[in-house]
Amino acid sequence: MRKKIVAGNWKMNTTLQDGIKLAQDVEALAAQVNNGAVVIVNTPFTHLTEVKKVLKKVALGAENCADQESGAYTGEISAAMVASTGAQYVIIGHSERRAYYHETDAILNKKTKLALANNLTPIFCIGEVLAEREANKHFEVVNAQLANGLFDLSEADFSKIVIAYEPVWAIGTGKTATSAQAQEIHKVIRETIASKYGKAVAENTSILYGGSCNDKNAAELFANPDVDGGLIGGAALKPESFIAIVKSF
Ligand code: PEP
Repeated sequence: MRKKIVAGNWKMNTTLQDGIKLAQDVEALAAQVNNGAVVIVNTPFTHLTEVKKVLKKVALGAENCADQESGAYTGEISAAMVASTGAQYVIIGHSERRAYYHETDAILNKKTKLALANNLTPIFCIGEVLAEREANKHFEVVNAQLANGLFDLSEADFSKIVIAYEPVWAIGTGKTATSAQAQEIHKVIRETIASKYGKAVAENTSILYGGSCNDKNAAELFANPDVDGGLIGGAALKPESFIAIVKSF
């Protein structure tokens, strides 16, 4: 059975002290919700070890990991290092990483394999920019990101992946995809997965929506049959809003 998931992406926000307080508040509120949703906070690397200590119900993830196993890569953090903090998830291929740090499908494929080798669950992000949507190329773009980033994985490995569809034009802009736009493309993503790995794998894959998702629009988005939850940026920094999103299922 595919999981319902709400994952926060804190990005480059909060000091360590602010992050611990935020995690404590999220944990306390999440502990009161019992709707079966998996709640994850993906924090800066510097916060992982301390945030892990205050989480019980809420799972922990990183926002990135290196595309190399170990060695002379100054400033990088490996998947093994992330896993050693107790984190269970890692965001891979966020559009900010693709755009600002030039992470290609080939790099993201390496990161995904290293994450899996270290028992981390990748939250693999795909999504089109505005010009691609306006040129009606969004299906083509996400299908290529899936194929180039993930489709050389074995069926067993692919089954461990969480997909996050995030239209880049909706991230941090306050402009959300409509519920119909989200369902339309999530359905296509699931069909593309089915054509590669079969219907059972596709049906079991959690596909999250991300892009200005908040406590006002989450219920409508999550009501769609192919939207299994959300990857949340801005609203993940406000514990009440974040947990209101978790309650939206
Ligand atoms: C994100 O960065 O993954 C995201 C969805 O951001 P926001 O919710 O702020 O649009």
